[in-house]
Amino acid sequence: MANTNNHTRYIDQIAVLGEAGQRRLGRTRVHIAGLGGLGSNVALLLSQLGVGRISANDPQVVEPSNLSRFILGDAADLGKFKVEVAARHLARWPALGFTPLVAPNESSATECMIALAGWVFSCANTVEARVAAARMAVQTGTSIIDVGVADGRELLAGTVKIWRPSFPSWAACPACTLPSRAPTKRREGWLFSVIALTASISVQLFVEHACRGRRKPQLANMLTLDAERFTIESAAINRSPYCRACADVSGGASIHKPANTAALVAGVTTPAELSSSWLEADCHVQGV
Ligand SMILES: [Zn+2]
Repeated sequence: MANTNNHTRYIDQIAVLGEAGQRRLGRTRVHIAGLGGLGSNVALLLSQLGVGRISANDPQVVEPSNLSRFILGDAADLGKFKVEVAARHLARWPALGFTPLVAPNESSATECMIALAGWVFSCANTVEARVAAARMAVQTGTSIIDVGVADGRELLAGTVKIWRPSFPSWAACPACTLPSRAPTKRREGWLFSVIALTASISVQLFVEHACRGRRKPQLANMLTLDAERFTIESAAINRSPYCRACADVSGGASIHKPANTAALVAGVTTPAELSSSWLEADCHVQGV
């Protein structure tokens, strides 16, 4: 452990995970693509677990209707960028390094963050943004967990999908099951308890794989939560030959992680230079 205080903080968790498991969490870098209701819950859970480095991208500011599910801010944060609000909230974990990025998923800076990370949580609220995150994860060989909830007016349910580059036979990426286009709705219905429950399931799946050393693929790569019947069902989803994220990657053979991921963004030569202020400046230039 990095220090005695950290050891004391996690001593009951170490009883479950072991010293090595807790250290593994501390060394893990996770990127969260989309920091709304799901993303903010995922960020809080990962921080509390002791994940050492987290980055998150989101182009939006906190609006009044977000406050019922954005768990990292309150009314005093209205009008501020969600990732900046999150940075202030997560500063209470002194061992956590958090990097905020004001940018949509479809930006080169987000791709850089995903390439740097060992894991990405895909939590954006549009199909296009989720496809972009899945494509970047597949292309950079970054493990991805896609988290989604249904419109609560129709069904109290959530889905969690996982894809790992080390399991090439575990065919489908999270975008394989996404529709090619989805209409943008003016307003949807969300229940915070369902959001938090789905986020918790996704983070537990991460713990199993990233920390407890689950190395063999399970048959299931998608979990479906039915919050009305209180069931979680698992399923194996097949790869779509028409997937916009992974169709051009053959059997995982062409997956690779660039040695110098910072080179993905012009003008940056080392990961250390990926400061949040630089990234924000870059992304504002891109018209975010
Ligand atoms: Zn796919």
